[in-house]
Amino acid sequence: MNKKDLAEPFYHGFEKILELSRNCKFSDCTHTNETGCAVTQSISEGTLSEESLHHYHREKNEADYLSSQKNKTKAIDYMKQRKLFKR
Ligand SMILES: [Zn+2]
Repeated sequence: MNKKDLAEPFYHGFEKILELSRNCKFSDCTHTNETGCAVTQSISEGTLSEESLHHYHREKNEADYLSSQKNKTKAIDYMKQRKLFKR
């Protein structure tokens, strides 16, 4: 798969952000405009590309979206089940 070649630089950026986030002031830091954010600081210092952070946020949003979708499906299934049991 040549998909791997495309994913690699992105993966490194992602890993770097995860590593940097350990130095963030807040453990629930979203790395957007928090004070004491090690990630945005690295961007202003030029050691991290802004693009990497954009990818990170995109991935994160997608993951959140997918997990919320999954919960919804689960909730619907649960409701369907209850309906069946009620009968
Ligand atoms: Zn941060």
